Amino acid sequence: MTEIGLEPLLTESQIQERVTELAKQIAADYGETQVLLVAVLRGSIHFVSDLARRIGRADWELDFIQVRSYQSGRKSSGVVQIRKDLDTNLEGRDVLIVEDVVDTGATLAHLRELLGTRRPKSLRVVALLVKEGAIRAGTQVEYMGFRIPDAFVVGYGLDYDERYRHLPYVAILP
Ligand code: 5GP
Repeated sequence: MTEIGLEPLLTESQIQERVTELAKQIAADYGETQVLLVAVLRGSIHFVSDLARRIGRADWELDFIQVRSYQSGRKSSGVVQIRKDLDTNLEGRDVLIVEDVVDTGATLAHLRELLGTRRPKSLRVVALLVKEGAIRAGTQVEYMGFRIPDAFVVGYGLDYDERYRHLPYVAILP
């Protein structure tokens, strides 16, 4: 147990080890290609920061997109709305969407469709956490950190009404 009483589902060291592995795999797959990391705000802030530094290449680029799929609280509204769009032109670029958690897969499906219309050369997804439900639904995720149960999680950037983002581990909110 921790000071705020949440039992880690994934500890800080488990997360950090897996992020390092993902970064190595991404670096190996992209080789000399300059990759554009598209981080989905706000939950992916810690993940993209740790991942990008470990990709270990000087010429990755970073941009941010913010979508809103949850009104507030724990349930997906099913409605995906762009709140902040990218500044970068995607045409001909190798784009890697960096997502914190995939639940129903609705957000990713929408993002793939939207960004796909901007004619990138390639479009892939790295997600730290993918819930069982998204796997059952066949959501495509090229790089997956952890497969987790269908529960609401917080920590490592993920919030519940703007709380818990600072935690270095991921926990199920009871
Ligand atoms: P989906 O569209 O796949 O149902 O949901 C994706 C988005 O919903 C994520 O980017 C995240 O913002 C939010 N979300 C889904 N599951 C969780 C969760 O367990 N905890 C938190 N904090 N956010 C979640």
